[in-house]
Amino acid sequence: MTVQLAKRLKSIKPSATLSLNAKAKALAAKGADVVSFATGEPDFDTPKHIKDAAIAALNAGFTKYTATGGIPELKAAICKKLQRENKLEFTPEQVLVSDGAKHSLYNLFQALLSPGDEVVIFAPYWVSYPDMVLLADGKPVLVETNEADGYAPDPGELRKALSPRTRAVVINSPCNPTGAVLSRAALSGVAEVLKGHDCLIVTDDIYERLLYVSTPFENLANVEPSLAPRTVVVNGFSKAFSMTGWRLGYAAGPKELISAMQMIQDQSTSNASSFSQKGALAALEGPTTALDEMVAEFKVRRDLIVAGLNKIPGIRCRNPEGAFYVFPNIEALIGRSYKGKPIGGSVQLSEILLEDFLVAAVPGEPFGAEGHLRFSFATSRANIEKGLERIGKLVAALS
Ligand code: PMP
Ligand code: GLU
Repeated sequence: MTVQLAKRLKSIKPSATLSLNAKAKALAAKGADVVSFATGEPDFDTPKHIKDAAIAALNAGFTKYTATGGIPELKAAICKKLQRENKLEFTPEQVLVSDGAKHSLYNLFQALLSPGDEVVIFAPYWVSYPDMVLLADGKPVLVETNEADGYAPDPGELRKALSPRTRAVVINSPCNPTGAVLSRAALSGVAEVLKGHDCLIVTDDIYERLLYVSTPFENLANVEPSLAPRTVVVNGFSKAFSMTGWRLGYAAGPKELISAMQMIQDQSTSNASSFSQKGALAALEGPTTALDEMVAEFKVRRDLIVAGLNKIPGIRCRNPEGAFYVFPNIEALIGRSYKGKPIGGSVQLSEILLEDFLVAAVPGEPFGAEGHLRFSFATSRANIEKGLERIGKLVAALS
C-alpha cells in the first residue's frame, strides 16, 4: 500500500536547524573533525543544583503523571518570575507548562487559528514559526526587516501587513537568527500600530537572559502596558539554563487561550516530564551564577567571531546584542565560483562549507533571509578560531 500523508504536510519542510545539526553530528560520529556552528543550544552543562533537584525528584518517586498544565509550585514560580523579572502580572491559571517553548508555540497556533487566519512574522525569523502556523492551517504573513535598521520593524510595513484576518503578531527579541535586540523605540513603533489592531501579541522571550548590552530586557507589554492583556509570553528553560534536552517551556497569556492550549495538550502530550518540572523549579528559585558566567563567556566568543568574520573578504558581520547567533551577510560570495561552479545561494555555500571544509553553519534562506549564514557561537573559543580559519580557506578558494 502507498501511505497517503496528510495534505497539510505538503506546505511544510523539515527544520533546517535540526537537520543541519543532525548532519554535522552524523559526520562527526564517522570520525570527521567537524566544527559545528549549527546548534542552537548552549555548550554548557545544566547547573548542578538543577540536576540535583531532578535527581532528588526521581529518587523520591516523583515519576508519575502530573497535572497537564504543570505542577502548581512550578506555575506559581513562573508567575513570580514574570512578576519579578518582567514586571508582568499573571495568575497560575494563565500559565501552561509544555515540552519546550516550541511546544508552547505549537499549542498556541493550534488553539488560535482557523483555516486562512493570518499571523504576522518578521523576517529574518526562526525557522519554525511559519511552519507551525501552516500546520495549524494558518497563513504566515512575512514582514521584512533589515540589517541597516538593526532589524527593527518598520511600523508602516507592519501596518500594511495587518488585515481583518490577522490573529497574531510574533515578536522575538533577542532574535534567532540575527541576535538583534529591539530597542524601546523599536518596540514602541510596533506597539503604536498594534494598539489600533485587535490581535494577539506573541512575545517569544526565550533569549531574554542572553544579553550583551547594559539595557535591561523589555518586551512589548513592558513598553506598552495597555497591550499586556492581549500578550502571550512564551519562554523556556533551554537557553538560559542549558536545559535543551529537558524539554521544558511555558506560555503565559489570556486565560481562555491558555485553557484551549491546555485542552490540546490534554489530548496530545499530557504533562511535561515530572522530574524536569522539579528541575525547572530549582532553576527559577536557585542562584544565577552559572548563567552570569555563561553570558560573560558568550560575550567574549561573540567578539571573537564577529571580529574574525569581518576580517574575511566578502563577509560582513553585524554585532548582535543578544542570543548566541551571528548572522553575517555573505551576498558578496554568491555568484563567485567554487571548483569551477558558481555558488547559487546560502544553501549551496553551507553545503560546500560542511562537505569540503567541515564547518557547519545554517543557511539564511530557511530563516527568510537569503544572502546570510547563521553561526551559533555556543561553542568553544578554540572551535571558533579553527572554524574561522577554515572559512577563510573557503573564501580564498573562490574565483
Ligand atoms: N523560540 C526560539 C526563537 C528558538 O530559537 C527556539 C529554539 N530552541 C525555541 C523557541 C524553542 O526552544 P525550546 O523548545 O527548546 O524551549
Ligand atoms: N532553536 C534552536 C535553533 O534554532 C534549536 C533547534 C530548533 O529547535 O530549531 O537552532
